[in-house]
Amino acid sequence: MAVELRRVSKVYGNGAVRTVALEEVSLVVAPGESVVLMGPSGSGKTTLLNIVATLDRPTSGEVYVLGVDVVNMPEKKLEKFRLRNIGYLFQSYNLVPYLTAEQNVALPLIALGVKKELALLKARVLLELVGLEKAAGLYPQQMSSGMQQRAAVARALANNPPILVLDEPTSNLDADNASNLLALIAAVNRIFKTTVFIATHDAEVARIATRLIYMRSGRVYEAAEPPKRELKI
Ligand code: ADP
Ligand code: ADP
Repeated sequence: MAVELRRVSKVYGNGAVRTVALEEVSLVVAPGESVVLMGPSGSGKTTLLNIVATLDRPTSGEVYVLGVDVVNMPEKKLEKFRLRNIGYLFQSYNLVPYLTAEQNVALPLIALGVKKELALLKARVLLELVGLEKAAGLYPQQMSSGMQQRAAVARALANNPPILVLDEPTSNLDADNASNLLALIAAVNRIFKTTVFIATHDAEVARIATRLIYMRSGRVYEAAEPPKRELKI
């Protein structure tokens, strides 16, 4: 399995201000699936994505990513594991402010030991794929939020990760850019069998889902009918 959650709960705070963000969520996702999570604000989508991306650990329950128990993995080892296996986009894009777009995209490659020139070359190809070929030399503060979002997607794809985790990837994009980005994600999913997790409010995103999951109050509800993928590449 690509990802398996067993009775995963996440509780924030304690005492009076205790929030149950996830309540005994169990989920098995096979390699190559494209899982789209929808649901109201506060239903636990980001928390679930954080746990799948190994950026956060559950309060209780088991999490296996690519067959590996990531709950009990020491932080240092987990960082390496994440860099190698998981590309992610979260709502704060976390582009490094003093690096250009291409340097930002090259960063995870360089961190894995790819030579700088090769990493920058690949970064430029990735930027082209997200329609940012002209922005390679720009710093994050010189880019609109939509451009930063696309640069962060390019960075998430840099290491050809088997697992891609995207939180609201289309939130700052106009219809054209959003549909191009969805086509790119669908292509990566199909061609590389990348397992994709996306949280979104955008109904268009459901078009690239192989599984549609609704969240409500920290619980997951699978759509009865698996979605028929409409977006062709
Ligand atoms: P969604 O992504 O569906 O909007 P979240 O996973 O962000 O939902 O949030 C789920 C619940 O957990 C919400 O009630 C939210 O307020 C709470 N929550 C999320 N992150 C934290 C945090 N770091 N500290 C305290 N509560 C949090
Ligand atoms: P550090 O110098 O802190 O060890 P890294 O080289 O691991 O940082 O990563 C640099 C930046 O790239 C970070 O801000 C991180 O958010 C981002 N990043 C690293 N790996 C990934 C990935 N697999 N997907 C998306 N962003 C990543």
